[in-house]
Amino acid sequence: MASPTVKLNSGYEMPLVGFGLWKVENNTADTVYNAIKAGYRLLDGACDYGNEKECGEGVARAIKDGLVKREELFIVSKLWQTFHEGDKVEPITRRQLSDWGIGYFDLFLIHFPVALEYVDPSVRYPPSWSAPGEKPRWSKATTQETWTAMEGLVEKGLAKSIGVANFQSQLLFDVLRYAKITPASLQVEIHPYYQQRDLVKMAQNEGIFVTAYSSFGPTGFIECNMDEAKNAKPLMEHEVIKAIADKVGKTPAQVLLRWATQRGLAVIPKTYREPIMKQNLDCVGWDIPQEGMDEIAKLEMNLKFNKPTNYFEAENLYIFG
Ligand code: NAD
Repeated sequence: MASPTVKLNSGYEMPLVGFGLWKVENNTADTVYNAIKAGYRLLDGACDYGNEKECGEGVARAIKDGLVKREELFIVSKLWQTFHEGDKVEPITRRQLSDWGIGYFDLFLIHFPVALEYVDPSVRYPPSWSAPGEKPRWSKATTQETWTAMEGLVEKGLAKSIGVANFQSQLLFDVLRYAKITPASLQVEIHPYYQQRDLVKMAQNEGIFVTAYSSFGPTGFIECNMDEAKNAKPLMEHEVIKAIADKVGKTPAQVLLRWATQRGLAVIPKTYREPIMKQNLDCVGWDIPQEGMDEIAKLEMNLKFNKPTNYFEAENLYIFG
């Protein structure tokens, strides 16, 4: 089963359902290969995930075996915080492309609107938020400086489309004031406990395509041993989600993904298991009835898990993305 695509404001087609690569640490190349074999065409990576070389190996093998051609894949990566200074953007993008073994990213995102002091890749890579046990150190780079350098990647053919992640609406409006290239995509945390309705509306009104990450809410963060996630009721076990799943004959995970795609959002779930990869791809082409969508709307709790402020406490530093 292949995912349908959507047209970005850059003119390129992006699959609506992709495969997330954060915390894919074991058998990474095999996992990427299996995801492509299962039908995924969008791969969502990042410098911070520390696995771009292995992801590239999986891609290379899939191409070599004739599963897919490079131009049929949509490879996403992200600019880490320590590379926000204008002159650091292109060199690190080239390094990331070389790790993947490809000539361009289909979409390259600013990972967080947070600029940290430059760390040379020979010193620490991926650099994370800080050196082990230390506090993050700020850089003076502005978002405008970073965005202008991101635009340079498009001009040089290193990225087909560029966008942002973890931006809120005020900052997006700010970018729109000076952007020569409007962000093609905004990637943010969205699940029934954190629905971001105003932000989604604003971005969609501006023609910026929204991708929802962590569609299963706490589940992805329990893997990081995060207390807030462990204390939250797992969405896949929530009675509202389970009742809708029974009604439509799908799994709770599929309902959570369809809830997003039905709102016009792309999704990027992650799993190691091949049958689950295929199951997660099946989250378009059927509908949650309107009363089900209304019930899920009531689950909003303003409960966000991916919070940079958590990572500024040295004793509480996760390797995060
Ligand atoms: P997720 O919400 O996809 O949840 C992953 C967890 O759910 C894993 O434990 C997996 O085993 C389980 N799971 C997946 N499918 C399942 C199914 N059908 N049934 C039961 N369990 C299932 O995880 P996530 O990693 O938080 O987010 C997904 C992707 O989003 C990441 O891999 C990454 O690419 C992206 N992301 C981006 C940012 C960012 O800052 N831009 C932050 C977080 C995640």
